[in-house]
Amino acid sequence: MPSTVRTLKLPSGEAVPVLGQGTWKMGEDRRRRADEVAALKLGFDLGITLIDTAEMYASGGAEEVVAEAIAGRRDETFLVSKVLPSNASRAGVKRACEASLKRVATDRIDLYLLHWPGSVPLSETVEAFEALKSQGKIRHWGVSNFDTDEMENLVSLPSGGNVQTNQVLYNLSRRGLEFDLAPWSRRRRIPLMAYSPVEQGALARNARLEAVAARHNATAAQIALAWIMMQDGVIAIPKAGRQEHVRQNAAALDIALTAEDLAELDRAFPPPTRKRGLEMI
Ligand code: NAP
Repeated sequence: MPSTVRTLKLPSGEAVPVLGQGTWKMGEDRRRRADEVAALKLGFDLGITLIDTAEMYASGGAEEVVAEAIAGRRDETFLVSKVLPSNASRAGVKRACEASLKRVATDRIDLYLLHWPGSVPLSETVEAFEALKSQGKIRHWGVSNFDTDEMENLVSLPSGGNVQTNQVLYNLSRRGLEFDLAPWSRRRRIPLMAYSPVEQGALARNARLEAVAARHNATAAQIALAWIMMQDGVIAIPKAGRQEHVRQNAAALDIALTAEDLAELDRAFPPPTRKRGLEMI
């Protein structure tokens, strides 16, 4: 494992890498499967051992790709999966979790997230998560796409304070949450897990980022990742189906952005000056 993979602590005290691997769109096309598995395995070799998946992705197909990638090395990985809001009832969470465990061919999920807020009372979902925890089927739980008011509500519920992360859309072109959700989360020491950190590939083609990248002999995507990984209490989970991208993403951990770089990035992608609703993809 390279020495460069920084970690941060979840509220539980467990350390996880600040760089993980996303899996949305994996498992959709059998012809790409071998490449996807190889990319994820390379990521593990490089120390990017946190893997993010969901029952929704390719209707379970992404979890099956994950199963193939982690076979024989489950204990090295930190597995994150998600339950759909439509399955967030007491019985639904249990059923969905058991189906995910079967697809990933494992006995536990390290961090199980509610994919986005839905109509099932949150207290019921939290109770269901806590029950799965006591059965050892999940080790921790968290949420995704929760804005500040939704987090406030969550932590006021019985056991709601056990939330370990909020996975949200966050990258240079989506900085709205810096106004209140990010400071709120930092105060509570609840890490944000930044999804779509290269804006689904769009930031990899951004001219303003390319200008900064040229100074570091890097790519625009690497600058986007180096920037997000510098944010306090943030874990980035880019998805890369190509090994070349995985190597570049791991190498982004070694890029030290200067004050000049950061000022230029702020000019190109200004931070928010007022509250905006949390964006999601
Ligand atoms: P993303 O990671 O921002 O972008 C993925 C795209 O960027 C892919 O096309 C990938 O190409 C490309 N890419 C990756 N590394 C690159 C590099 N070094 N240079 C150039 N291009 C690069 O977008 P995302 O997949 O939407 O988000 C990441 C993960 O977050 C998802 O996979 C999923 O696990 C999670 N997510 C969660 C939610 C939620 O609601 N909780 C929503 C969206 C996403 P290749 O694949 O060809 O390598």
